This record gives sequence, C-alpha cells and structure tokens, in this order.
Amino acid sequence: MKKEENFSEWYNDLVEQAGLTDKRYPIKGMNVWPAYGWKIMQYIDTFIRQELDATNHDEVCFPLLIPKTEFQKEKDHIKGFDAEVYWVTHAGLNELDIPLLLRPTSETAMYPMFAIWIRSHGDLPLKIYQLVNTFRYETKQTRAFIRVREIHFFESHTCHVDEADAQRQVEEDFVILENLMQKLCLPYMLLKRTEWDKFPGAYYTVGIDTAMMRGRSLQLGSIHHYRENFSRPFDIKYEDVDGSTKYVHQTTYGMSERLLGSVVGVHGDDKGLVLPPAIAPFQVVIVPIPAKGNVDVVSAKARELRDELKAAGIRVVLDESDERPGAKFFKWELKGVPLRLELGARDIDKGVVAYARRDDGEKGSFARSDVIADVRTMLDTIAVDMRAKAQRFLDDSIISVDSLDFKEVPEKWLRFGWCGEQECGRKIEERTELKILGSPYNKEEFHGKCLGCGKDTDTVVYAARAM
Ligand code: ZN
Repeated sequence: MKKEENFSEWYNDLVEQAGLTDKRYPIKGMNVWPAYGWKIMQYIDTFIRQELDATNHDEVCFPLLIPKTEFQKEKDHIKGFDAEVYWVTHAGLNELDIPLLLRPTSETAMYPMFAIWIRSHGDLPLKIYQLVNTFRYETKQTRAFIRVREIHFFESHTCHVDEADAQRQVEEDFVILENLMQKLCLPYMLLKRTEWDKFPGAYYTVGIDTAMMRGRSLQLGSIHHYRENFSRPFDIKYEDVDGSTKYVHQTTYGMSERLLGSVVGVHGDDKGLVLPPAIAPFQVVIVPIPAKGNVDVVSAKARELRDELKAAGIRVVLDESDERPGAKFFKWELKGVPLRLELGARDIDKGVVAYARRDDGEKGSFARSDVIADVRTMLDTIAVDMRAKAQRFLDDSIISVDSLDFKEVPEKWLRFGWCGEQECGRKIEERTELKILGSPYNKEEFHGKCLGCGKDTDTVVYAARAM
C-alpha cells in the first residue's frame, strides 16, 4: 500500500484490512461497523460526550422519521437537502397521507418540540445534543467514513435569548472542538463559509477543515449560527423578563464519523493505521520473543507485564498467538497500535523492555522497574509528536498566490485576497476548479489584492479541492 502514489486505493484498502469497516453489506454507502472500528468511534464519542456534558448540554434522542410537513417549514433548508433525502411512503400496505423522511440532520425533527418545550426566558439557554445515525443520498463516489449514505453523526442544538448569547455558544463550541482535536492529534482551520456555501438556512457557517493528500481538504464538521431563521418558521418563542414575546436565537454544531476518516487519512502510512493513543483500542501491544528453552519463562514475564500495565489503566494486548514475531509486528502496525513492547530472555536478564513507536518507528528500551511511568510518558510524547507532524503537513499544504496566472493549478490549498463579491468568488472558483473554503474565523492580518478583480482588500480566503 502506497499512500503517496494512490491515496484513494491506499485508504479504501486500509479501512477494510485494519478492521474499521466492512463494505460488503448489500447497500452501497451503508457499511457495517466491525468491532475494532466501532471501538475507536466509541472512544471518539466518549470524548464528545465528556466535553458536551461538561458544558451543560443534555444528551437526548429524537425519532429517526420526520414528517414532510415539518421538513418543509424552512425554505432554504429544503432546497439544501431535497435531493439527498430518503423517503418512507408506505406503512404496511397503506400509502401514507404525509410521507416521512429519514433525518438528514435533525433541525426539523427537534424544532417543533422546542416550540412546545420553551415558554419563558427561564427555559433558556436550551442546550441539547445527540449521537445518532443520519441518512443522505450521496450521488458522488462513496468512501468509508468520508462520504457515506448512513452516517454516524453528532449534533448539538441550542436556543438562546438573543444573538449575543448564541454567539457565546459558537465560541464555546470552538473550545469543545479544540479539546477533542487534541485527543485526535488533528490540526484544523476554522473557515467562515461563503454565502453560497453556508448551511441551508444558516445566518453563517464556520467549517472545520483539515488537509489531506495532494492539497485536498476535508470538512470535519461545522458550526452554525441561525439567528431567528428557524425559530420564526417553527414558532420557537419565549416570554422575556419584561413580559414581551421574542423568538429564540439558535446554533448548531455537527460532526460525524469523518473524524475517524480523517484520523486514518492524516496519520496513516504505508504500513497501516497510526492511531492517536487517546482513541486506540489498544495503546500497547506486547510481543513476546521466545527462544528454545525459555518459552515458559518469557510467557510468564510477558503476562506479568500485561497485568501490571492493565492495572495501571493502560489499554494493552498481549499477543500470544502462534505467529512469528515479525508477523505479529506487521499485524499490529496495520492496526495502528501506538506502542509495541518486546520481551525476550535477554531483555529479562538485563531488566529492560524493548519498545518500538508506531508513529515514527523509533526503537529503544525502558527499565523494567520504571515501565509504567515510561509507557505513560511515551504515549503522551507520541500524541504531541503526531499532532506536530500533522500540523506541519497542514502548513505545507498551503501556498499563498497573488495571481491566477498559473499553467496548472498547484495541488495545494491556495491562500489569497478576495474582495468579498460573489461574482469574483465564483470566477476564482471556476478558473481554479477549487472551492473557496472561506476566510479564517480568527482574522489573519492581510493586505493585498482580490484575486478576481484586483481591488485592494484585507480579507484573505482559502480554497482547495474538497475530498
Ligand atoms: Zn474581487
């Protein structure tokens, strides 16, 4: 498998060989989660839950089906999703009077209930989230975790007394995101989407983007401020302190199994997955290296080591299968286990444990007596180094350009000035065949000229070929 040569083939082979997904289910774009992949996703979900619970969001679970009548209440929203919706038109032998759709996202499932739940300012802010499956009829080439038709999805929905409080929620979402991305060792950019690319029905959308091979970008999630765009059609109002009736301001924050896809794509290499320690089902694999005459001793010492690590709360697997050590190395490298420990008779005599890092291949040894502390420190170091390496990759994926005069569009993210006019933006997109991802949410100092019309501007934007 060669990541550099053919990313698509490398990715598609790897996700199956490493046991993350099984694409043989007889519906295209709807894959099975085998145990190993689902475990990793569950660690990601656990971190999401921790962050959301710590910021006073409540977890809920809404029905999968949405009546067509509710779905049609917000007109931009319908336009954005109409072509992607799966419909349920029959119940048993009867055709339904009002067809039902499988949620592509849950605004129109939740908001009729919000209108019932919210009465007064005392009910606000309302902050809820759910982790559920959503459905979108993708017509482009499907790709495990990145473009699928049944999506493992996270969505938080909040309601606020006014625009400023909703804005504070957006800022809180950025903190939640940063904490999660630290665990996944993923660098990202917060880019405010263009008007023609924002979420259908949103006041504004901030995309969370990371870089993949050859200048591709992958949207990991998005955060939206809705203002009153949904509360008006859904009639979500509250009585304010002064007795007046007002519409709530709303936000949403969505992420999906793409987080796992990006972990694969960003960190993986030609040997397989490279998992960040925080989400690795096994953080450490122990491979015994027995020789003639010492099989029992080595095996007993390896089990002792496993039990100690386990008792210390480190997720560890001891591979006692009959395969040769080389085959075991290969297998666990493919699965991305961050740290391998090897134990042979000579190590035991010397009072050491040999190690090999999955991320950079570095080898060395720990004193047996300090192994718990050393493993912990090493797992932390691996996470820091993985994040730094991925950040360098993102930085190297970006080049600044000040004219459209190139023979071939580079396989990079382009960074350039833009006057903000849609006409210019469209022209640049057509000329480069890239998508304008948007301008940095946290403004970057910039003085230059619009790539489209040449006017002076202090707005900088990024554009890339989306995955
Ligand atoms: Zn312009």
